[in-house]
Amino acid sequence: MTEKPKKKAILSKSTFIKGMQCPKALYLHKNRYFLRDPLSAEQLARFSRGTDVGIYAQNLFPGGVDASPKTHFQMAQSVVKTAALIQQPEVNVIYEAAFEHEEVIVALDILYRENNQWKGVEVKSSRSISETYRWDAALQYYVITGSGLELEDFSVAYINEDYKRQGGVDAHKLFHMESLLILVKERREEVAQKVQELKDVTRLKNSPPVPIGVQCNHPYPCDFRGHCWKKVPADSVFLLEGISEEQKFEWYHAGIASVDDLPAGIANDKNWSVQIQSIKEKKVIVDKPALTAFLQTCETARVFQPFLFAPVVPFLDNTSPYQALPFGNGKTHAGNSAPEIKMENYAAFSLEAAVENMLETTSSSDCLWVFGVAKIKELLANCKILYPLLENDLELLSGKLKELLTPLERGMVVYPGMKVPLSPEKILKHFGAESAGFPDKCMIPEQADALFQKLISNPDWENNAGIADQLEVYMQSKTDNLFRLLQLWTNLMM
Ligand code: SF4
Repeated sequence: MTEKPKKKAILSKSTFIKGMQCPKALYLHKNRYFLRDPLSAEQLARFSRGTDVGIYAQNLFPGGVDASPKTHFQMAQSVVKTAALIQQPEVNVIYEAAFEHEEVIVALDILYRENNQWKGVEVKSSRSISETYRWDAALQYYVITGSGLELEDFSVAYINEDYKRQGGVDAHKLFHMESLLILVKERREEVAQKVQELKDVTRLKNSPPVPIGVQCNHPYPCDFRGHCWKKVPADSVFLLEGISEEQKFEWYHAGIASVDDLPAGIANDKNWSVQIQSIKEKKVIVDKPALTAFLQTCETARVFQPFLFAPVVPFLDNTSPYQALPFGNGKTHAGNSAPEIKMENYAAFSLEAAVENMLETTSSSDCLWVFGVAKIKELLANCKILYPLLENDLELLSGKLKELLTPLERGMVVYPGMKVPLSPEKILKHFGAESAGFPDKCMIPEQADALFQKLISNPDWENNAGIADQLEVYMQSKTDNLFRLLQLWTNLMM
């Protein structure tokens, strides 16, 4: 049966995937952890989403026993607990079952027994199975079967984006289950080889000589870019937007590190010359006639900001996983002393009321500046399906929206090292313009989304008033910053 851990594991699922992405990243993680970049707020928000979905997916196989450790550092105890649970004939479902084999430790979301055969399920909050997830599954299968437990099947459960909630969530419809048994068996030898190679990497005296490359950002942004990219010049070719990463690395490794080194054919190409000039001269370049004409398409200095949350597990009927829903809105205009914001009642959330509030907020304006118009129009289109009686009003609102990102997207404003994804705050920061501050500097839309979900799922929680206050400050600041961006574009036009 399953092995008991003999010594401290060297690899886990996450370090194996890290090593697959780049052996140097694995080495640094294991031996020079202090060189790691701080975790971004986006990464933190993503981690929390994955955990919630994993717990929800337990409804696929209810009544299981949880083998998860108290802390991440006690995984070895989980291995022992799992081994004991597997021996108990009355236990047919185990959550977070842990296994160790050849100094690799893994935890599986769901292990269940059917007709006396054990089967494994790994849960993902994504809407498809990526190549990384296939390797993740292959490693788990290798470790579990290597530890002595035969698996009759191994599946990945991931989100069915076509699912629409009807009178309660049906976990079996919310998740797609796809067996990867054939694939994980085929990859067994390759995994064994890779495990050995990566364990050897962790024991090296010095970090392996891996040059920077596309692996630094794929499949995940590496945590050690701050360390490895130190020698990249400030005016590097990596600052160019609209050129593939492969091309930039090809240039970089051929000695073309700075935009100054680019061949004349590229440097003079009208598609890149403005960007290159902006990077070289470290200055903003504005096409004033184009910017003026664009801003004149909506002369009312009014901004509108809907605030969205997108639950993976739909909590309202007729909505789908990840469907964006409004939890409030903000607006402001020239001469207003402070943005006007409205947050929906989390204790008795009504989508219809939220939609009506958006319409009321915007009804007196002919034209409104927004940021991220595509997402807002998608929200309005979904609301039209849900509330056909509001179709005309929603259509009207959709037609009023003007995108504040357009000056950058269309090259009316070019600044050195313009990097997507952009936010009003990032743009303002670049221009040295002040942003309205947040009490929590890390607050980003994904975190606000997670906080509102916390409010509606625990409406009686004692900390809710504090969270609601935090969200209101966030909404004020975001709306204010949108207006500051409009002012910035207006000033550049002069
Ligand atoms: S930054 Fe790039 S080269 Fe450096 S460890 Fe990360 S992936 Fe490897």
